[in-house]
Parts: sequence; C-alpha cells; structure tokens
Amino acid sequence: MESYNSFKVAQEQVEEAAKLLNLDRATIELLKWPQREYKFTLHVKMDDGTPKIFHAWRIQHNYARGPAKGGIRFHPDETVDTIRALASWMTWKTAVVDIPLGGGKGGICCDPKNMSEMELERLSRAYAQAIAPHIGSRVDVPAPDVYTNPQTMAWMMDEYETIIGRHEPGAFTDKPKSIGGTMGRRNATARGGVITVREACNTYGFDPTKTYAIQGFGNAGQRASMLHKKLLGGGKLVAVSDSKGAIFNSAGFDPTELVQHKLKTGSVANFPGSKPIPHGELLELDVEILYPAALENVITSENADNIKAKVICELANGPTTPEADRILFKKGIHVIPDILASAGGVTVSYFEMVQDSYSYFWNEETVHERLDKKLMAAYHTVYQALKEKKVHPRQAAMVVGVARVAEVCKLRGWV
Ligand code: GLU
Repeated sequence: MESYNSFKVAQEQVEEAAKLLNLDRATIELLKWPQREYKFTLHVKMDDGTPKIFHAWRIQHNYARGPAKGGIRFHPDETVDTIRALASWMTWKTAVVDIPLGGGKGGICCDPKNMSEMELERLSRAYAQAIAPHIGSRVDVPAPDVYTNPQTMAWMMDEYETIIGRHEPGAFTDKPKSIGGTMGRRNATARGGVITVREACNTYGFDPTKTYAIQGFGNAGQRASMLHKKLLGGGKLVAVSDSKGAIFNSAGFDPTELVQHKLKTGSVANFPGSKPIPHGELLELDVEILYPAALENVITSENADNIKAKVICELANGPTTPEADRILFKKGIHVIPDILASAGGVTVSYFEMVQDSYSYFWNEETVHERLDKKLMAAYHTVYQALKEKKVHPRQAAMVVGVARVAEVCKLRGWV
C-alpha cells in the first residue's frame, strides 16, 4: 500500500530530484526538512462565551532564496506533516518560477464551515498574534490557502500592524485591493494554470476546445472553469465537483451559472440539468484536460490506471502520489505538476509584495502580462529539463526547483 503521508511524499520527491542532480547527503537532508517550525496552541472565545483551543502551525521550509512564502490553511485535517509538505512544495514552486522567495505554509486545525464570521475573525487575530514575532515582508509572508481569503488576510494584517506599530502591507499577500492588494491576484492561480495548459496545447497539440473537468470548486476551480474558455478559445466543461457532490453533463455546463449556483447554495450539487456522479468517477472521465483543484492525494496507485484525460493540470497542491506519477507517465499522460501549474498565485503575490514595497500599483494588464511571461518561461524550462533528463514532469520540475535552491544554499555556505 502506497504511503499517503504528504510529508513523506514531499521528502521522496526531494530524494528523487537530488539523485538526478548528484547532490551530496548534507544538501539533501537540508532540503528534505523545514528550516523552522512553529507550533501554537491558540485560545479563542466562541460566540457563546466558551473558550476553545486550536492547534496551529507556521512552517518555514526554506528561506535561502528569499523570505519564506506561502498560504495559511483553515482545515479540520491539518497536521504538522500536511503543513511540512505544503511548505516544502512552496519552496520548489517559488524556485520553478524563479521569484526571489522561499517556501512556507501555515495552518490551523479547525472547522471553518461551522464557525461564525466573528469566531473566524477572533481565530485569525489570535493566529496573527502568535506568528507576529516570526513573520514580516523580509522574513516570511503568508497568503490565503484552502478556506481562507482576502478578508482573513485583512484581519491578520491589521492585528500584525497593531503589534509592530507601523504599516507593513507587504507582510501578507492577496489582501483586499483597498489595503495594498494587487490587481489580478484572485484569479492568478487559475490563470497561471490555464497559461500552462495553453503552452502544453501549443507545444504538443492537445485541443483545449474539446472537453475539460474540474475536481474541486473553490477559488482556483471556479476561476479556472471560466478562464479556460476565455483564454483558450472554448472548451466544454462536462464535470465539476466539490466536497458536497460531483456533477456531469455531456452537453457542457455554463461556468458562470455554475459559480452563481455555488455561491447561492454552497455547492455545485443539484445544479439544474446535471447528473450526479460518484466523486471518483470525475477523475476517470474521458476528457481532454483534467484540473484537480482541491486537496492532496486524490490521484493514487488505485485510480491512476483508469485516468483517461490527456492533460492533467494540477491546480491543487500535491494531488498525485509518487506511485500514481509513475503510472501516469507510463500511460503517456501529460501532467503539469502542481509546483508549476499552481504557481500563478504566488507569482502574483510576489508582484503584490513588489508593489507594496514602493506603494505604487500596476494596472491589471501589466500584472497579466508579467504573469504570462513568468509562467510561459517556467513551463518551457521544465519541459526542456524533461527532455534532457528523460524523467516524468514532476521530476523535471523538481530538478529545476531543487537545483536553484541547492545552488543558493551552497553559495551561502550552508552545505
Ligand atoms: N496558497 C497559494 C499556493 O499554494 C498561494 C501562496 C502565496 O501566494 O503565497 O500557492
């Protein structure tokens, strides 16, 4: 049975890349482990006055190339190991797109769907108090992730600035625009993913105007559903899912209507004219492009053999296990790995930090143009490495990312 501990998966990926790069043991150990890990036990008063304890983490996996960077996740399944894995993937993601940042991630083990707005605000502020001594625009810069959003960042930034006694908007990204956010950040992850699909189609002849399916309908999934059509000149969205259900329609859905339905009812389930299907079936549909846009470990050794998509664009972090990677490679499926496909978000976060640092803001077109250039260059660097090393796409992306981080660790004299 394959191991689904995400941190073990992340470490295995480092070992594989390190072997291809002939790295020494000290460098490998350094890159396999987070440089700093903070664990917090937060106490928050719930609306009825009772105190509740929440376990939370902020992990800075590697800050050789710049301040640690990565989101904060609110999820009931969060553990130290999920955060370690996610932090490590951020290190490779920022390196693959070659932005001067390291990798970090934070998380709070909580059930945000069953908390009120006020409770979420108090929890966000408690977390900001805990991380305040350890973050900053030159140290570690959080952003949203699963079940957090610009409002969460606004509360945290306000708390942080109150503690330090000055403005420092670049300490958080994907903030609301009125307090130092950038244009184009909300759809940046999806946009980046769709750009990599465009490059794959142009280079290898896949047809984006055929069918696509989206697993997970949060921020990235919703925006990808619309951007796919807009940027790639068409395509039929035949299936989508979220935690409450998966739906199918061979005639195709209108993404805008689906997003409205999700906002109104909280789920894609029961969308008029749709047929409910089992969650697992969505991943195995015969589509041109599949976007996993939810959580880790959904494509495993158990279902990889049944996958029929021609291209998999990983908008989620860590959706595919190492054994599944090998199977998909053998089947000739074109996987655009998470550390490349989902790098648009952190790339525009970096643009946000740049703009915050000189308090002067770019228009949307400039953000889009610069994001496009970054992702296009990263895509072709990765697929060039793939050709040279004859490895699967994740290994190629890892080789690019790990080599860049290892080089800086060496220059700094760490190894
Ligand atoms: N949470 C996003 C990711 O996993 C964005 C991180 C960021 O912008 O720092 O890539």
